[in-house]
Amino acid sequence: MRKQIAAANWKMNLTLQQGEQLLDDILSKPHSLKDNQEAIFAIPAPYLSMAQSKLRNKEHVFVAAQNCYSKKSGAYTGEISVDMLSSLGVQYVVLGHSERREYFNESNSFLADKVNICLENNISPIFCCGEPLDIREANTQNEYVGKQLKESLYHLTEAQIRKIVIAYEPIWAIGTGKTATSEQAQEMHAFIRKNIELVYGASTANSISILYGGSVKAANAVEIFSQTDVDGGLVGGASLIADEFVAIINALK
Ligand code: PEP
Repeated sequence: MRKQIAAANWKMNLTLQQGEQLLDDILSKPHSLKDNQEAIFAIPAPYLSMAQSKLRNKEHVFVAAQNCYSKKSGAYTGEISVDMLSSLGVQYVVLGHSERREYFNESNSFLADKVNICLENNISPIFCCGEPLDIREANTQNEYVGKQLKESLYHLTEAQIRKIVIAYEPIWAIGTGKTATSEQAQEMHAFIRKNIELVYGASTANSISILYGGSVKAANAVEIFSQTDVDGGLVGGASLIADEFVAIINALK
């Protein structure tokens, strides 16, 4: 069975003390993560160490970085290397979030380099893809997302792509309160899985978790996660509220 994942993306929010409190609040509330389920916290870089020590011995709970650089080390002031993440025991990193693509001009080919260095160093990318509103309105979202996958992922071997988690995040639904309908999410997730199948075969395509992101909250998580090809969510705003995120974890199938 594919992994079902509730991933929190704190973005550039919270102080250290607020972050610690939020993790404590979430961990103190009843949540039941089954063997095929994971909760992942994509934490601001300065707090990775704190989160890693707090969550290290918790079953099915992991820490993720929100970004990393495409080079191993060197004169890249302000960047975070995969070795730095590995030395903290971090196993996941979010790559290609639409905010990084938009504000920091991250291209598909630059993301391919980041994907490569992560996989070479045993860190699993949570690879974000998704279309802006004008593309959705022109009904060309499949071509758009297909291109993102092709240019950033399809050079990988079958063994490598199996280590990727994909997050489909329609940009028009991120932080807007406007969620894709569960039908729209299922339609795109099925397209992504089929697209992977055409390159890597059905067994690989069926093994990859595809998360939905875009205004997921406690009130809509069960409905969205119930879709056949939706394997959980990448959650921004609602992940900053303990009760909301715990309910989202408990909505995993
Ligand atoms: C995100 O940042 O990945 C996201 C989906 O944000 P929100 O849940 O706030 O729409």
